[in-house]
Amino acid sequence: MSQGPATTRCPICGKAAAPETRPFCSPHCADVDLGRWLIGHYRIPGSRSDRDEEPQPPPDAA
Ligand SMILES: [Zn+2]
Repeated sequence: MSQGPATTRCPICGKAAAPETRPFCSPHCADVDLGRWLIGHYRIPGSRSDRDEEPQPPPDAA
């Protein structure tokens, strides 16, 4: 079980990560990942439908 030094791969482009920008290979990839993360937080799919579910009137309540 000896695989040598653990190489962290950049999750963005797959290159070997640099020690200064781990786990990314470069500040650019770090920015890309941060951008994706922020976008993911702004658009959470289906996060409202569960809680803010308003009671809908029955179809025959005219
Ligand atoms: Zn990269």
